[in-house]
Amino acid sequence: MSKYQVNSKGYYGPFGGAYIPEMLYPNVEELQNQYLEIIEDPTFKKEFESLLRDYVGRPSPLYPAQRLSEKYNAKIFLKREDLNHTGAHKINNTIGQILLAEKLGKKRIIAETGAGQHGVATATVCALKGLECVVYMGEIDIERQAPNVARMKMMGAKVVAATSGSKTLKDATNEALRDWINNPVDTHYIIGSVVGPHPYPDMVARFQSIISEETKKQLLEKTGKQNPDIVMACVGGGSNAAGMFYHFLNEEDIQLIAVEASGHGVDSGESAATTVLGHEGVLHGSRSILMQTEDGQVIEPYSISAGLDYPGIGPQHAWLFKSGRGTYVSATDDEAMQAGLLLTKLEGIIPAIESSHALAHLEKMKFKGNETVVICLSGRGDKDLDIYMKYFGF
Ligand SMILES: *Cc1c(COP(=O)(O)O)cnc(C)c1O
Repeated sequence: MSKYQVNSKGYYGPFGGAYIPEMLYPNVEELQNQYLEIIEDPTFKKEFESLLRDYVGRPSPLYPAQRLSEKYNAKIFLKREDLNHTGAHKINNTIGQILLAEKLGKKRIIAETGAGQHGVATATVCALKGLECVVYMGEIDIERQAPNVARMKMMGAKVVAATSGSKTLKDATNEALRDWINNPVDTHYIIGSVVGPHPYPDMVARFQSIISEETKKQLLEKTGKQNPDIVMACVGGGSNAAGMFYHFLNEEDIQLIAVEASGHGVDSGESAATTVLGHEGVLHGSRSILMQTEDGQVIEPYSISAGLDYPGIGPQHAWLFKSGRGTYVSATDDEAMQAGLLLTKLEGIIPAIESSHALAHLEKMKFKGNETVVICLSGRGDKDLDIYMKYFGF
């Protein structure tokens, strides 16, 4: 067992666990007791693999980005999660969880969503499987993210407005949890990142680990070596990074770089750079690092990219950070926007602004010329065109 993976009690070092209200014990225990047996079953694996291939379009290419490589003096490969059906890595996880829900005999799916990306990925797999789908979303987010609300509705999902508190993601999460408490028998709750009570962080990381599994094979084909020198990904909750790191965790000479969003700057008061600003505490059912005030109130995060606008990181990331196995850095809104434009101009690929944060860190690195670098391009930029347009005045 790797010291960077979850232990039998649900912890990564001091982080993880399941800090939940007693009323949720039955739901979470059912998952804890059954998830490994189900997802390691050969029939499950076969179904998962065929949907990833025939529906999502995997394997996603590992693209040697030549002009980007020349610019930075390194051998840079992009893992193209942006080419997945629905435009990002999130679908890997929702496919896995919908299959798990079926095996558990669940008839109804709930999820919470902020910007709507996870809501769309969940509504998609519910349409695929003909399961009832309820997505909780803050009232303010519903207004801000009309196209994603429309997508979910087209796919037959019911979008329920969370009208309490700040009317955003946090409140939607509370509503989803309340629903789950009230419907423990027939409902599965699909969490969208490597956060939440054990076993979610491990389960989601396993579903996303296809990213590094493919990368190893593709690197071997392309370079004759299955290991890169450096692996990079952006971190909101941390699921694309967890998937990108998964099969490289034990190879200690491979550098793992996680890029958080520092918004208007780490010290601006408008940021989501959790490892810089955060402290240990409990968020969304697990012990991790989160941005909080001295008396434990969660601080509202900010980033130009909706997917990185989260006040914590998953417990595995907290452990990779604390143990020093991972290098945690951050990029500002401006740095990310410039990096997104640069990739577009050099390679003809418009990245999601989340992914642009990972690209932005290249500017701060010094290469000798022979390093192999893999960057997870977590999503495509179509959804962000409005923001690019406003920012650059196109
Ligand atoms: C949601 C999202 C992210 C952030 O989520 P993680 O769980 O940290 O991966 C990153 N990139 C894209 C394109 C997203 O949609």
